[in-house]
Amino acid sequence: MTPSERTRVRVRVPAKVNVQLAVGAARPDGFHDLANVFLAVGLYDEITVTPADTLRITCEGPDAGQVPLDATNLAARAALALARRHGIDPHVHIHIAKDIPVAGGMAGGSADGAGALLACDALWSLNSSRDELLAICAELGSDVPFSLIGGAALGTGRGEQLTPLDTDGAFPWVFAVADGGLSTPTVFREFDRLTAHAPVPPPAADPALLDALRTGDATALAATLSNDLQPAALSLRPSLADTLTAGRAAGALAALVSGSGPTTAFLAKSPEAADEVAEALLASGTCRTARVATSPAEGATVVEHTGQGRN
Ligand code: ATP
Repeated sequence: MTPSERTRVRVRVPAKVNVQLAVGAARPDGFHDLANVFLAVGLYDEITVTPADTLRITCEGPDAGQVPLDATNLAARAALALARRHGIDPHVHIHIAKDIPVAGGMAGGSADGAGALLACDALWSLNSSRDELLAICAELGSDVPFSLIGGAALGTGRGEQLTPLDTDGAFPWVFAVADGGLSTPTVFREFDRLTAHAPVPPPAADPALLDALRTGDATALAATLSNDLQPAALSLRPSLADTLTAGRAAGALAALVSGSGPTTAFLAKSPEAADEVAEALLASGTCRTARVATSPAEGATVVEHTGQGRN
């Protein structure tokens, strides 16, 4: 093994849940203005990058079969964008250990984009500033900048213009993973169809929800959770209503569709209560699996860097 083959960077990057997703009317460019309150949750993908002769992606994990391994993978797009900006070859092996549900409304692809960007920046010793990395993230997709910074943030514009938010304490969540995914563009199209005959108000963050995050008050947060895409996700996947009902019946403080779905999110009053909700959801047969996780979680983080140098 040559020294360059020993060089390796491993980055851990979290999933997200939207505690508020306010959606405005479709803009002329087809995008929607959003007021999107993101919370990073402690479910992680790990991205490991090593020098290689060409750009190569591999993926492991229960949903690995649904992840594209070509240049459309957001991790590949991140490496290509960074290499292009610095005029270097994007020769890197990117391995994704995938624990975030695919097409589940938890920004798993965005997480991999942000993770690969940070990992390649370290592997190639580029020392990009946070602002430079955030600019590339915004080009890759609306949710990618948040995956880099983690914690809690308000996203405006398409969701990519971020203002970090103060939070206190830790919120226990349960995520019910559904069989199969939902395509985010399809869910937005269904939102447009469902709202076609009513005025859609401009999206705005809810001050009571921001207060609940700041004070770490799970009951107050539960009372203010909202997702304007939920009716569209339920319209496309009516069975999600049974999952929401099962989680509420098991004592969740609140239940909602995560982002564009079909993952559903349940806020619990304690870690013990979260375990009980997860067990009840599994027993209900209304989801494929149920995962417990805490928020907020740290954004993309280098957890291992061995060897030196660039390719
Ligand atoms: P969001 O919450 O940001 O709307 P999502 O969690 O619903 O996204 P993703 O898991 O990001 O959905 O995947 C959406 C699609 O993106 C997948 O079906 C897949 O075709 C594509 N994709 C590209 N790169 C990746 C990646 N690294 N991991 C998973 N999917 C990817």
